[in-house]
Amino acid sequence: MTDYSSLSLWHDCLDEPIEPRPSLQGPTDADVAIVGAGLTGLWTAYYLAKADPHLRIAMVEKHVAGFGASGRNGGWCSSFFAASHDAIKKESGREAAIAMQRAMYDTVDEVGRVVNEHKIDARWYKSGALTLARSAVQLQRLRADYDHECEWGFGDGDVQWLSAEETRQRLNAAGSLGALYTPHCAAVDPARLTRGLATVVEGLGVKIYEQTPALAINPKAVVTPVGELRADVVVRATEGYTATLPQFKRTLMPLYSLMIATEPLPPAFWQEVGWQGHETFGDGRHLIIYAMRTADDRIAIGGRGAPYHFGSRVLDSFDREPAVFAALHEVTRELFPALGAARVTHTWGGPIGVPRDWFSSVGLDKTQGMAWAGGYVGDGVSTTNLAGRTLCDLIVGNDSDITHLAWVGHHSPRWEPEPLRWLAVNALLKVMAGADRAELRTGRPARRTAIVDKLVG
Ligand SMILES: Cc1cc2nc3c(=O)[nH]c(=O)nc-3n(C[C@H](O)[C@H](O)[C@H](O)COP(=O)(O)OP(=O)(O)OC[C@H]3O[C@@H](n4cnc5c(N)ncnc54)[C@H](O)[C@@H]3O)c2cc1C
Repeated sequence: MTDYSSLSLWHDCLDEPIEPRPSLQGPTDADVAIVGAGLTGLWTAYYLAKADPHLRIAMVEKHVAGFGASGRNGGWCSSFFAASHDAIKKESGREAAIAMQRAMYDTVDEVGRVVNEHKIDARWYKSGALTLARSAVQLQRLRADYDHECEWGFGDGDVQWLSAEETRQRLNAAGSLGALYTPHCAAVDPARLTRGLATVVEGLGVKIYEQTPALAINPKAVVTPVGELRADVVVRATEGYTATLPQFKRTLMPLYSLMIATEPLPPAFWQEVGWQGHETFGDGRHLIIYAMRTADDRIAIGGRGAPYHFGSRVLDSFDREPAVFAALHEVTRELFPALGAARVTHTWGGPIGVPRDWFSSVGLDKTQGMAWAGGYVGDGVSTTNLAGRTLCDLIVGNDSDITHLAWVGHHSPRWEPEPLRWLAVNALLKVMAGADRAELRTGRPARRTAIVDKLVG
């Protein structure tokens, strides 16, 4: 693909067309080699270059920086972490679960700090995230989530319950009965963030070789079509694309998240809807949706209704599922009747990386010289920053608070072989969508989701 503007709304609205950087021309040596120029790779390079300006850091990217999920996402730079507090507690104890969440809260501000320091034009609005309760069942579930957060000791500065009226004052979405609110989230333009960070990283002396696919990632060497990129440490930062490398076929499952965006909406619409703070929002359904108001006054909204593709295949054509786009359009109209006949101008999607236990991880195998981060299950915009800082500390040997967080060195089990994986994952997606329909119909919580909770911890 060379017309990168068609990748997403964000790519289409960049100020300049994307011109790929030069590719790798032959065998090369570096101190650290990074595969993948999404946010994981770029944050790792950024902190490494800052920590030791003499390090020779080289990145290889199959397409261009920001080609993957990092450039296409829903723009939530949130404090959400894929594994629940309880899953982390089970593995590493209560204090570890609290430390992980606190580190995620800090990470949102760290991203904002770098954006500000380097004047990255990322259209950053830090106004928090709302999870709307739009039915009695969702209200019950989200109130329980709120109580759960309070039991964990997260207070008013971290999570709040908003009444229906308080919710409406922020965002007038149809049928809101209340909302769970956290201030620890920013809305951001993902392509501007990622492309801007790539420019900063390059300015720090990091080599980014674009249009250079890694064919294999071996201890201390990345195999490319033009020869090996040898390095003391090789970082795998391929997330949703990891399964396309034969050696990591069952490491992370690619699941597709899809989005639509409306045309810029007129002042009359925003007078009706409010949303002056650009809070991100979703609601309490099982098969999640996520939305944001863009800097140019569109609604960008995404969801997870797309199927899992047999053999963990990743193809450009999987980014487009007309039925999912239509469903997202319908949800948007339901949320905002004032939309009227406003047009949907952009539809797109991309793969996210899902580990078997839904537990993101970061780590360095010192003996092999192999490092990795990923498995963010769609919560990677900020988590990639924590991953980058952590990988930097692990690689330069800095024993810090973040190198002791619960996700460091965590090893998720591998996914089942096919056809089991395909059958189980698509059944699970059906259960979640079916549960939402059943809750709407009966007004009662769907018990069938207990099986999903078991599977995802
Ligand atoms: C539609 C969508 C909406 C999302 N919304 C949100 C959101 O609102 N908030 C949030 O927190 N998260 C969201 N996510 C998830 C988030 O974007 C990702 O978790 C995060 O960007 C992952 O960053 P990454 O750098 O690890 O992976 P990526 O950004 O996917 O980067 C991986 C890079 O590796 C390259 N690559 C792959 N294979 C090779 C190879 N063999 N050789 C060389 N290069 C290779 C790819 O081209 C790509 O550029 C969303 C994802 C999608 C798809």
